[in-house]
Amino acid sequence: MALVHGAPTTTIVIVEDEEAIAGALAARLRAEGFAVEVAHDGLAGVQLCERIGPDLVVLDVMLPGIDGHEACRRIQRERPVPVLMLTALDAETDLIVGLGVGADDYLTKPFSQRELVARVRALLRRSQRSAEPSARPIAAGSITIDPERREVRRDGELVHLTPTEFDLVHRLALRPGIVFSREQLLEEVWGYLDGTAGGRTVDSHVAAVRRKLGPDVLRTVQGIGYAFAARGE
Ligand code: CA
Repeated sequence: MALVHGAPTTTIVIVEDEEAIAGALAARLRAEGFAVEVAHDGLAGVQLCERIGPDLVVLDVMLPGIDGHEACRRIQRERPVPVLMLTALDAETDLIVGLGVGADDYLTKPFSQRELVARVRALLRRSQRSAEPSARPIAAGSITIDPERREVRRDGELVHLTPTEFDLVHRLALRPGIVFSREQLLEEVWGYLDGTAGGRTVDSHVAAVRRKLGPDVLRTVQGIGYAFAARGE
């Protein structure tokens, strides 16, 4: 968060090549009190994020030059930041969910501006809530979780997780062995209840966490949900 005129300002970067859409989204988000910067292609978006360090990124998937997937990877590599992906087709949504590219949420076009604002606010709530210094470090088997630094290590090695992946692991690790349903995780980690495709969002993030931290860290309980499986000390 940047300080402008003594008040904390939340900065959002919009990466969208359709200028009419980008302009309308920027106007709406500015009207909601956010500082907004716009880029019209993937590379410019990555560079803009490097330069200003936004609190959140709204990223279109179909972009000239590097596409939204690659832009998302590069933005997240630089610095973990919540990313809301915009997709044009259900097929693209499937791709995002399937690839687990590190987006924290996605909206399929066409969407209402109100919906966009609601998703943006939910994502920001989650990243701000997780910044609260409430939690102590957790050590479980080869995994250590430091909530204040938002760092996860495996065998002492720092592992890069997106903000949502971190929140998911941390939420589960706070109560090891306890099974959380997908709906419960959507509400507690994502901050909203979404009737459609929500379960797939959880599944894709679980898959990403397993790729990064090992297949045994999160246990699937068929028909119910997931539990943190690493042993506590
Ligand atoms: Ca586009």
